[in-house]
Formats: sequence, C-alpha cells, structure tokens
Amino acid sequence: MFDRSRRNLAYWYAASMGGILVVFAGVGYSFIVQAQLRNFDDLLYKRSRIVSGIQPSIPGILQPVPVDFAYARWYRVDRQRIKYIGSPGSNYLVGTIGFETIGSFRQLTLPIQRQNQTIGYLQVAAPLTPLQQSLEQVRFFLLIGVPTTIALIGITGWILGGIAMQPSRKAYAQLQRFTADASHELRAPIAAVLSNAQVGLMPPEEPQEQHDRLERVVEIAKSMSALVNNLLWLARHEELDRTQFQTIDFVELIRSLDYPNDRNVTLSLPDRPVQIEADPELIRQAIANLLSNAFKYTPQEGTVRVELIAQQTVIVRVIDTGIGIPAEDLPHIFERFYRVDTARSRQTGGFGLGLAIAQQIIQAHQGQLTVTSQLGSGSTFQIELPLKAPLSKLQ
Ligand code: ADP
Repeated sequence: MFDRSRRNLAYWYAASMGGILVVFAGVGYSFIVQAQLRNFDDLLYKRSRIVSGIQPSIPGILQPVPVDFAYARWYRVDRQRIKYIGSPGSNYLVGTIGFETIGSFRQLTLPIQRQNQTIGYLQVAAPLTPLQQSLEQVRFFLLIGVPTTIALIGITGWILGGIAMQPSRKAYAQLQRFTADASHELRAPIAAVLSNAQVGLMPPEEPQEQHDRLERVVEIAKSMSALVNNLLWLARHEELDRTQFQTIDFVELIRSLDYPNDRNVTLSLPDRPVQIEADPELIRQAIANLLSNAFKYTPQEGTVRVELIAQQTVIVRVIDTGIGIPAEDLPHIFERFYRVDTARSRQTGGFGLGLAIAQQIIQAHQGQLTVTSQLGSGSTFQIELPLKAPLSKLQ
C-alpha cells in the first residue's frame, strides 16, 4: 500500500515538475531562437550598411553569429539590377523591403538613400547555417538535459516520498500491532466465556458448580471490560486538552491515594505544597498504575516507598524492593502489551498496558517517566514534571 502511494507520489511529482520544465524549456528555446535571429539580422543590417557606405551602430543581444554574404545585388531606383556579387538572381528586384528567410538564407533588402532621396536598392543575403548550428547545439542540450532532469526529479520524488511516508508507515505498523495484540488479548477470555457457557448449557449440574462457573464468567467479563477501557483510554488520550488542566498540590494528591493497610509503605513528602499544572485524575491514574505494579511485583514482606522532591522540576519516585526487571526488558516495558514474563503477569492479571498508560499521561504533561531496576532487588520508577512556578515563589 505504502509502496504504491510512494510510486504514485514520485510519478505525479515527476509529471508535474517535468511538465513545468518542458514548458520552461520550450519558452526558453523560442526566446533563444528569436534573440539569435535578431542578432543575426542586426549583423546582416550592419554589414549591408558598410556595403552601402553607411555604418550604423546596432547593439547585439547575444553572442553574434558570423555573417558572410551569399550574395549582394545593387538595383537602380526603377528596380533594374546594376551589379551583383555571388548569385545574380533576377534582373529586377524581387522581394519585399526588409528581412526575409528564403530557404536556408536570410535576405535583407534596403533602399539606398542620398539626401533623403531613394537612389536605388541593395539586396544582401547570408546563409543561416551558423545560426542553425548554434540552435542545433541548444536543441541537443535540451534533448539530453530535459529527460535527465525529469529522471532526477522522479528519483528525488521517490526519495522524498519515502521520507514523507516514514511517520505514516510507522504509525500504521504500530496500529496494526496494537490491533493484533488487542485481538489476541481478547481471544483467550472470550474462549473461556464461551466454554463456560457451553458447559452451562449441558444437563444441569450441582448448584454450587453452576455458581462457580457463573462467577468465573463474571470475573472474565470484568477483566475484559478493564482491558477494553484501557484500550479506549489509550486511543482517546493521545493528546490532552490542556484547558482541563488545574493547579494541583502534588503532595496532597499523593497523600490521598489508596495504600493497602497490609503492605509496608513509606511516604517521603515535603511538608509544604508543591504545585503543578495538570489533570488531577490522570496524574492520579499514572501514579496509581506505578503503585499497583510495585505492590504486584513486590512480595508481602518487601517495602514500597514513594518520594517527592521539588527542585527545578517535581520528581516523584516509586521505589520497591520487589522482583526487579531484567536489563534486556527495560527498554520495552513502556510498550503497549509488553510483559516481562507472561507467566508472572498472568498470575497478577496484567495486560501490559499499565506502564504504557502511565507514560502516555506523563508525556502529555510534558514530563518524563523513567525506570531503573535490578533483577531480584527492586525497581525505581521516576516521574519528572515541570513545576507550576519557580520554587522560590512558593516559599
Ligand atoms: P502489567 O499490567 O502486566 O503489569 P505494565 O505495563 O504495568 O503491565 O507493566 C509491564 C511489565 O513490566 C509487567 O508485565 C512487569 O513484568 C514489569 N513491571 C512493571 N512494574 C514492575 C515492578 N515494579 N517490578 C517488577 N516488574 C515490573
């Protein structure tokens, strides 16, 4: 699909630019022909005046082509030929006063005047060969130059098309992978719902068994609904409406989050408000995702610590002493549907979307979400966001 569009783009680019080039070349060529002919005529006129004894000064436009007479004929005022050099022609003056092209000659017929009186006529002609040769060179140059330039334009169009299509190609590949991953994630729970329903349709079973079966269906449906909600969220929140942003106290927001009572959680927060411009619900969701992971991947006896440091920017760290993340997985964990180890996420019911959502939220707030982790010793997720105003103004 992209290659066809790229080919079309290159083709139309070459066709349109080539069309413009051909028109320009045509106009340029006719201009050169006219200018050369004017030059040739000027020289012919100049030479003819020398022959008739009067030397006019006529400026040339282009490099003049040499003019050699093919013939020169003198006529009396009654148009009877008196003298000639070269081909004699007819005995009487034939042709109009001025310039004429006769075959491969340029002919000029002039009245010869003395004291404002026409005393005879002069007719001179020069072969057009030098002019034709010079134009032939121009034509040769255009014949080679124009198709070469069009080919170069086509190649340029092809290259530019490739560059221009790169973001769409990437976005399309991402979309395809996203759709494939989402369908894949939904296939397993749908199959589970189907098999439970099919077994439920069979001859009646024990009420308890039936109850368990329905409970499983409810659980699966809940998990599917969570997945669909997450997918919709990711699709809708590519860009945030900044008019929804409010000034919020980050310290207060972190304090107000839900922390399980049975876990060892420490909060290290400044004792003064730290203000940021943000959508409070989204920021809450991002930190909640990090916290939920910290609890999911840290054993009961481990610790989870939340730190907030306000300097030039606001830094929030969620530090756990959990199972950690292997170094080779670290560059990928923010990708949608990426799970370090499907087995460990399956146990905890994750889809691999929590970090992708958190990162999307933080980036939409002009912040950064980063991670450092040591397999077996724990992980630190860090959010960095711009402060609403310089710290000095808040103190
Ligand atoms: P999931 O819903 O599977 O947890 P996430 O996007 O939240 O998806 O996380 C992606 C993967 O990163 C998880 O599958 C998990 O393996 C790993 N991970 C995330 N947070 C932590 C953490 N605090 N400790 C260890 N592994 C983590």
